Amino acid sequence: MSAEAANPGAPLRKRGRARIDLRRLGRVALLGPVSRDRLPDAIGHVAEAHRAHCPDADLTVLSRAYVLAESSHRGQMRKSGEPYITHPLAVTLILAELGAGTTTLTASLLHDTVEDTEVTLDQVREEFGDEVCYLVDGVTKLEKVDYGAAAEPETFRKMLVATGNDVRVMSIKLADRLHNMRTLGVMRPEKQARIAKVTRDVLIPLAERLGVQALKTELEDLVFAILHPEEYERTRALISAWEDAQDPLTEIADSVRSTLREAGISAEVLIRPRHFVSVHRVRGKRGEMRGTDFGRLLVLVGEDADCYAVLGELHTCFTPVISEFKDFIAAPKFNLYQSLHTAVVGPEGAVAEVLIRTHRMHKVAEAGVVALGNPYAQDATTAAHQTESSDGERADPTRPGWLSRLLDWQESATDSDTFWATLRADLAQDREITVFRTDGGTLGLPAGASCVDAAYAQYGDEAHGCIGARVNGRLATLGTALNDGDTVQLLLAQDASSGPSPEWLDHARTPAARIAITTWLDAHPECVQGPHRGRPDAPRPPAQPAEDAPRPHARPAEDAPNSRAGAAGRAPTVAVGAPGAPVRLAGCCTPVPPDGITGFTVRGGAVTVHREECPAVARMREVGRTAVEARWNDPDGWSGTADCRVTLVAESFGRPRLLADLTEAIATAEAAIVSATVEPPSEQRVRHTYTLQLPDAAGLPGLMRAMRDVPGVYDVSRAQQPTATR
Ligand code: MN
Repeated sequence: MSAEAANPGAPLRKRGRARIDLRRLGRVALLGPVSRDRLPDAIGHVAEAHRAHCPDADLTVLSRAYVLAESSHRGQMRKSGEPYITHPLAVTLILAELGAGTTTLTASLLHDTVEDTEVTLDQVREEFGDEVCYLVDGVTKLEKVDYGAAAEPETFRKMLVATGNDVRVMSIKLADRLHNMRTLGVMRPEKQARIAKVTRDVLIPLAERLGVQALKTELEDLVFAILHPEEYERTRALISAWEDAQDPLTEIADSVRSTLREAGISAEVLIRPRHFVSVHRVRGKRGEMRGTDFGRLLVLVGEDADCYAVLGELHTCFTPVISEFKDFIAAPKFNLYQSLHTAVVGPEGAVAEVLIRTHRMHKVAEAGVVALGNPYAQDATTAAHQTESSDGERADPTRPGWLSRLLDWQESATDSDTFWATLRADLAQDREITVFRTDGGTLGLPAGASCVDAAYAQYGDEAHGCIGARVNGRLATLGTALNDGDTVQLLLAQDASSGPSPEWLDHARTPAARIAITTWLDAHPECVQGPHRGRPDAPRPPAQPAEDAPRPHARPAEDAPNSRAGAAGRAPTVAVGAPGAPVRLAGCCTPVPPDGITGFTVRGGAVTVHREECPAVARMREVGRTAVEARWNDPDGWSGTADCRVTLVAESFGRPRLLADLTEAIATAEAAIVSATVEPPSEQRVRHTYTLQLPDAAGLPGLMRAMRDVPGVYDVSRAQQPTATR
């Protein structure tokens, strides 16, 4: 068990302790030559921290790296007057405490040698191998960015590319920046402010994206102190007043502890103080701080399932604040973070926020990609973690999804100012969402992304031909904003005649989409002219959602509660193994009898029923959700032994032969057309309504899919009101 797991309550950012270590390291470094056969005293702390995470680590390579770094930096001083070697040592200690691997630590000890001493890259390669050499080279290049022209876009862009292949370079860079920020006091105020701003704009968002919470929070506090000294002082005064007072969280923690003990759940319950910036944010939000606002309860357990057991007990024995409940275990954040978040009402109405996670989740929450160690090693922990999150966004810790995207679009942005502006905008977005593709894949997008962004993320330049989208199975305009967990399907024109409209830029949040659209429009100036500013002959997405397109919070027809459907007398009803729970037929797969079906309890206690082969079922199972048994009340009763009559509405973009192709699709599915109406086109859109006779209701989903596959058709749904009765 790692030190982090053994003593998880200890915050990694302990500035006091770090300073003491540093002084000690400085003295030790001055003590002169190191004996060959034992570990140099100066790296004792590093070795100890590293062993706690990796008990079998080979420490001789660290020893050799230290000896080379110490001898080559000898005589150099930091601005503070300390021997230079204290800096790489401190950086390496930060990484070792976070659980970084031996290779990263070796490179970290050497990270300034090539830049500042006689040591050459070839020498590093000869003595420590290609991997260490690659990491040192990457950090050396990044160093020039920060201390040369901090915000020079072209340089930063090159550096990003140089390090993009390996996030370990960024891990070292972040620890390097943290130590430099800790020791910034010796610099002139203007220089402090300049470095603090770059830290705020680039390094902190990077730390967030790499999931290195421990570094992120300390960097935030250091930047806060430099850029907002008065606010910082005010916050510090609030925190020290709270520290002197009786902490109401202590009492709540005690009763949570005894509740869990009585329930037989083994768990550690800790109080985690918020960092300064967090307290400042809460105060900004609430106006006034309550005693329970200064920290959060952290409940640590052994297994994933225990997290839900703890949650159950808390929600039973305390009054929960349901709006605060978030499940980041079933749906981890883009940066690997997993936890259950909730809040309970303590004595006297005080609300306490609670985080529930396993020890492993805690390690990842604190150290992010640093905790993953060597991304190339297939050790058990890493492999288990990777397979646990099955989507591509998290599968490769050396290239998280956002980094891959960054690298992709930097190639298409020819103008480095645009690149810099979009990079900063991209980093400023504080979270990502995951949307599901209908082919089973996923897309990671920034919060607020629209269908336009999804189109370019999925199809690249082919997205120029996008004519519409379906979100969660329903027609949506391309400007529709996507939410975490949405399923999106993009509809592309069959021919190559269409192009993006300038209005798409209003909905494009991702650099990839913005750059692609701007590039296309620049190459087609004729399309930016005229009353519609779009290419006149191109099919355009509907300006307004179609009549039955999703409105916020409107429930799609297929997702109607079971009782309502039953009252209509025609729709099938489902019995589930959760008596009394409201039942819904899922909108994503529209089950009809006699489809094989499975239910899942969703938030609020309702059971949503999917077809067995719906991708949502596989996803739910993958994340460990328990299926609820579901069966049709009357599998034959709906369709009966007689045939089935149904009314379908097909919405399409007008084109020649559309009617012929639709009726052919219907005939191929062995359905007979009882009646058909075609509404006159409006804005190039056509609505066909067919009343059809099917030999068997089971053929209905297939028929609807076949009709949707007809080029130009963007939605097929069952009519709300049947136009004919059986
Ligand atoms: Mn450095």
